[in-house]
Amino acid sequence: MAKAFASAGDMEEKTVSFTEVGDGLYAFTAEGDPNTGVIIGDESVMIVEAQATPRLARKVIECVRSVTDKPISHLVMTHYHAVRVLGASAYGAPEVIMSDVTRSMVAERGQEDWDSEFERFPRLFQGHEEIPGLTWPTTTFSDGMSVYLGKRRVDIMHLGRAHTAGDAVIWVPDQEVMFTGDIVEYHSACYCGDGHFADWPETLAAIASFEPKSIAPGRGDALVGEQKVAEAIANTADFVASTYKPAAKVVARGGTLKEAWDAVRAECDPKFKDYAIYEHCLPFNVARAYDEAQGIDTPRVWTAARDKEMWAALQG
Ligand SMILES: [Zn+2]
Repeated sequence: MAKAFASAGDMEEKTVSFTEVGDGLYAFTAEGDPNTGVIIGDESVMIVEAQATPRLARKVIECVRSVTDKPISHLVMTHYHAVRVLGASAYGAPEVIMSDVTRSMVAERGQEDWDSEFERFPRLFQGHEEIPGLTWPTTTFSDGMSVYLGKRRVDIMHLGRAHTAGDAVIWVPDQEVMFTGDIVEYHSACYCGDGHFADWPETLAAIASFEPKSIAPGRGDALVGEQKVAEAIANTADFVASTYKPAAKVVARGGTLKEAWDAVRAECDPKFKDYAIYEHCLPFNVARAYDEAQGIDTPRVWTAARDKEMWAALQG
């Protein structure tokens, strides 16, 4: 039987964990599904990543209410992907913060991404009827901004391109804890279909230079302690390089996309086969690596139709 498209075959409910990653800081994780971060200030709460739907966002809110009854005042999106942003309406009407590059990507490709991710992740989009439309920011920044939740300062920064061109990280200086979005993953494949392979390692190095005590990654378990943080950053760097280098070699000798696919698999399968969403990500990752190695700087927009074509060509 043909392999089910993307994550269409993954309909089993995941177990949620709500892990303290610092004083008043939590990571909502679910076995490799998209994570959400929670930052509790003196008077109010900041949420990092909204989840795919209001239904999933309400699971986050339930966890938040188990630790605080302060109102949710801010919602930060690390990037534009549908599984991160479309649950925003469940949080009421907080301030919604994105980088200005991310806002421009919502305008340019947000609808296409919604249509594409809807078919890639049917389980995450259960209850999609409630989504009122694309999520737009109320506030944007270019390099960085600080938000004061009472006395607690939160720094929101664009450290460089990686998972997308507009990636933001969220840094809580009083605890030295970072929320990295999909720039860092833990035992989950990195989705590189909209990525910038050549920039990603430098952005990871910029994250490491903060010497975070804990990280809430984009997918996978919360990383508590410097050892776990270092391990996840190293694994992520290895994943990105192990995808890009074999593909770039094939491009350099004028090889085909299918040859790049075989070369990336030979490098990545032995190391990352067991990572969450590995088979899902692979065709999109190879397609983007092949493009970037040919000098295409701006990732081509994925549409539901292009998704299926690429899947048939590589995973079919
Ligand atoms: Zn993403």
